[in-house]
Amino acid sequence: MSAIDGLPPLRAVIAQHGLSAKKQLGQNFLLDLNLTAKIARQAGDLSGADVLEIGPGPGGLTRGLLAEGARRVLAVEKDARCLPALAEIAAAYPGRLEVINADALDLDVTAHLTPPIKVVANLPYNVGTELLIRWLTPAAWPPFWDSLTLMFQKEVAERIVARPGSKAYGRLALLVQWRAEARIVMTLPPEAFTPAPKVHSAVVHVTRREAPLYPADERILSRVTAAGFNQRRKMLRASLKGVAPDIERHLVTAGIPPTARAEEISLEAFCALARSIAAG
Ligand code: SAM
Repeated sequence: MSAIDGLPPLRAVIAQHGLSAKKQLGQNFLLDLNLTAKIARQAGDLSGADVLEIGPGPGGLTRGLLAEGARRVLAVEKDARCLPALAEIAAAYPGRLEVINADALDLDVTAHLTPPIKVVANLPYNVGTELLIRWLTPAAWPPFWDSLTLMFQKEVAERIVARPGSKAYGRLALLVQWRAEARIVMTLPPEAFTPAPKVHSAVVHVTRREAPLYPADERILSRVTAAGFNQRRKMLRASLKGVAPDIERHLVTAGIPPTARAEEISLEAFCALARSIAAG
């Protein structure tokens, strides 16, 4: 049975173009077009947006994004073997799909996109985390994107949305939640992918805030959370000793008990601490 886009099923595409999955590129493909359309819908209404897709592979999610009405998709794929399959999709959706053969970690894509811009990707876990951090720490805010809809290993997704007091809570949660709102919108079992990875996955939808949730100097906030969570079992008066002289006074000013540990402290309190340190 052919799909709604008239293109062959993904298994046939993979066989025709010899796209055997390469482990070193983190290739675990989504072959169910109903599922990829569902993931595309998690990014919201795509009709008025340019979509940046990183790592399209054989194009399952790309087809979902186009079928769900994306105005335009810019797809960045490192593996040149995927280009002929992606060219077939571009031909089925004239003028709506541009493919760049590049490593997403080396490429500045902003010149190729027109706002509003939604980023959607099913990426290898390490590349995804690296890009997420870069997208949340641009030279200036607001960033080029309006939302990010990204597949992660479930355990990483839980670290992104974690709240104080949980094991998953740490620097990643604080960075994301300071700049954006993040929700887990789907979870997927290993069998959803070919080949199946060892772990469960989850889709996280991130929408940017116009400004950070609480005022704070980003460098000081980052220094404080790095020191606090690098020694997460220690009391803050010990783990933050090197961050500022008189750290106990700053902790008290921020309403944080000096004997507390980093994982108990809210984003709001970390920002108050960063402000107290900045004030000297
Ligand atoms: N999006 C496809 C899907 O859902 O079936 C493929 C997902 S697969 C998990 C990850 C894709 O990212 C692969 O096609 C891989 O070649 C590509 N990739 C890996 N590292 C990349 C990088 N640094 N830049 C661009 N693409 C990359």
